[in-house]
Amino acid sequence: VALPPHSAAWVEELLGAPVPEERAAPCHECAMCAPAGEQLQPTQIVFDRRTKCCTYLPRLHNFLVGRILSDDSEASAKGRATVEARILAGVAVTPLGLLANDAYKLLYKHGRDRTFGMTLALRCPHYLEDEGGACGVWQHREATCATWFCKYERGVVAHRFWRAMHRLLVGVERSLAEWCVLELDPGRESLEALFPLPPAIEGSLSIEPGDLDGTVAPARYALEWGRWAGRELEYYRECARLVERLSWDDVLARCGAQARAHARLAEMAYGDLGPTELPDRLRVAPYQVAATGTEAAQIWTYSRYDLRAVPSALVAALPRFDARPTSEVVAELAKEAGLELEPELLGLLLEFGLLEPAQGA
Ligand code: SF4
Ligand code: SF4
Repeated sequence: VALPPHSAAWVEELLGAPVPEERAAPCHECAMCAPAGEQLQPTQIVFDRRTKCCTYLPRLHNFLVGRILSDDSEASAKGRATVEARILAGVAVTPLGLLANDAYKLLYKHGRDRTFGMTLALRCPHYLEDEGGACGVWQHREATCATWFCKYERGVVAHRFWRAMHRLLVGVERSLAEWCVLELDPGRESLEALFPLPPAIEGSLSIEPGDLDGTVAPARYALEWGRWAGRELEYYRECARLVERLSWDDVLARCGAQARAHARLAEMAYGDLGPTELPDRLRVAPYQVAATGTEAAQIWTYSRYDLRAVPSALVAALPRFDARPTSEVVAELAKEAGLELEPELLGLLLEFGLLEPAQGA
């Protein structure tokens, strides 16, 4: 799975290399949907094939909407139609982009772990069930959709890298959407409506009349759109044109100090993607046991969606890693428990997050 073209180009300029593809989460053959007839662990989390992980409503920024509307390829026709339908419905359709109303956010926030990947009512409108669960806006998807994976080939190392990518791209995309609004200036009242004071309590939500019924308040809509009201499609396409021309340096120049800080952190996280080196001292890291068996235990560490079978003998040996020199612990386990722990295996345990470098290692 690779980044969509618009963000892939920025990140490639930043890192000086293409972003590595994530192979542990093949979305066309969803890794979280159980194959028919498969024996499931009682505690195993399985997503619904009719939703996969798309029980989420992305914030489709204005320039991404414009990219989708301008993409007249045959392959994108169905996805484009889902975006046009959202614009026509008008719910949370603003010059900043296609947003989620507070009613949706409330359901998402409170259902999260129990409903994620399992609830049709929260399914993204761009999910194409009759195309095997393909994303209708894949080539133009926003930062959260582009950087979230249920599991990672390099485990905790890759998870850290993609979290850094997420932090960077979410902020950059949001700032560019705001920059587009300023460039295309919908008028004073619109700017006041689109850039309100932050709520006194962070994360507070307020359900407006019509939010639950999915209807639009015409006065609010007209206020937000200002001089662009009635020309929404043209506006979104213009946003895409504005952003299309920007190099990564241009992007950073428009996105402020926060984006520069996030870019620096992303570069550091990219540096950590090199070959895993074994530290001199290791210790067992916190982990969760989802199920135990005589041969193996089902364990997860950095994500409950990445459940792995770990041989019981290895689980029993983990407490021996208590920050003593790794070579000493390995020799002790070979002598006393008959366990031969090769460096490759220790590297895998480190990447999975079962072991971690001990302080001072
Ligand atoms: S990231 Fe989502 S769609 Fe892709 S394999 Fe994981 S759960 Fe399935
Ligand atoms: S935009 Fe695509 S990837 Fe994102 S939630 Fe919707 S269908 Fe899934």
